Amino acid sequence: MPEWMSIRDTKHKIDNLSAEEVTSSYLDTIEKSSINAFTNINKKAIEDAKYYDKNQSDLPLAGVPISIKDNISTKGIPTTCSSRMLENYIPPFNAHVIEKLYEAGAIIIGKTNMDEFAMGGSTETCCGGTTFNPWDTSRVPGGSSGGSAAALAAGESPISLGSDTGGSVRSPASYCGVVAMKPTYGTISRYGLISYSNSLEQIGPMATCVEDIAHIMDVIAGYDNRDSTSIKRDINYSDAIINDSEGMKIGVPTELISDGINPKVEKIVWDAIHKMEDLGAIWKEVSLPTTKYALPAYYILAMSDASSNLARFDGTRYGLRVEGNNWHVMASKTRAQGFGDEVKRRILLGTYALSAGYHDKYYVKALKVRTLVKNDFDRAFNDVDVLMGPTMADIAFKVGEKIEDPLSIYMTDINNVPVNLAGVPSMSIPCGFADKMPVGLQIIGNTFDESSILRCAYTFEQNTNHHRKRPDGVN
Ligand code: GLN
Repeated sequence: MPEWMSIRDTKHKIDNLSAEEVTSSYLDTIEKSSINAFTNINKKAIEDAKYYDKNQSDLPLAGVPISIKDNISTKGIPTTCSSRMLENYIPPFNAHVIEKLYEAGAIIIGKTNMDEFAMGGSTETCCGGTTFNPWDTSRVPGGSSGGSAAALAAGESPISLGSDTGGSVRSPASYCGVVAMKPTYGTISRYGLISYSNSLEQIGPMATCVEDIAHIMDVIAGYDNRDSTSIKRDINYSDAIINDSEGMKIGVPTELISDGINPKVEKIVWDAIHKMEDLGAIWKEVSLPTTKYALPAYYILAMSDASSNLARFDGTRYGLRVEGNNWHVMASKTRAQGFGDEVKRRILLGTYALSAGYHDKYYVKALKVRTLVKNDFDRAFNDVDVLMGPTMADIAFKVGEKIEDPLSIYMTDINNVPVNLAGVPSMSIPCGFADKMPVGLQIIGNTFDESSILRCAYTFEQNTNHHRKRPDGVN
């Protein structure tokens, strides 16, 4: 029977059984599953687990299985970005975070499904097919890190890594009833993360409880000179796991609880805010007036970054190559066949926004909006410790419901993208159920203040039961 296990539970089980047995029970669960959360399994996982059975170790994640979003480079394990372009690509090196996980003793069990090149919010634009939401398989798991969140919810992996450019760890965490954090920009090295929008994205930990997020952060965060945006800061995230929010100041941005919100979701989120009040926090409404321009600004910047980042996939160095009688024909055939529709749409729009005649009108204007959004957050954090609101305005939608209308999927990240524009940290934790589907509470912190988010999230979690519910068939 698949089950939800924290790092603590997993280590306990490894002590009682063995790392090999724990790893193979996850691999069995994945093999029998029909939710399609994984793109590839690590064939060396069992061998790696046996190593920890032979060599007792007190490393922080010794023998603990972890799944990895398929845009994070893993040496010797295919890394496809769920794209035909990279279907057969096996990286010759590990991402910084993968080096850190191996140093901590983790076992990489496999790579998780995602929207192609992390562009999307439903894990439907994947060359290997959609991932299904374990709470209701007629619904999407959110995206783009939908494979990671679905794997956690289905008991196919105890912890996971995703990436968040404009909500991609928080959206699936909200839709699948798990926990995820997008850290402050620069906190986790992006070395080896295949870039979609390098100015917005961060790798983010995903788990079934808040404490595990802090543990993973302690392992993967920190300076790396191979990422020019990496920041030197020494933070112990586990120190913030405190069940006490007495006196914490919470701001509730009116713009995040907007007109389009499902009233059932709105009520659940207000109940959560009032719960925090019962637990000693103080809340007040605040305003982030420029966030209404955040979504269009985000898409202009993300697509512009994407048009430049994805130029490297031209059939010359790695990935798919479709032959042609000269380089131009080869490159254009390769790109036409290698990329899916959503990726092509974004490259075209991004190239347009950066073109000489339109650069000032779109790209530069979007950069100005980005600064205004950041100023809004700075002003809000003069008065409060964290901001709180819904991660998503609604519960998970049906598979196929929005795929023909890309704008309607873009809209679902409306509460998430302001955070990426401002570079601030944010987390989604389970806070209730509407129509039997999970609802996520978003907790946003000031730059480098993941600790306030973790403390607030942990207090909420320890004093509620939402995170204890499981989808049918999962223990
Ligand atoms: N849904 C957003 C987009 O498509 C966010 C994706 C992400 O965070 N990777 O760009």
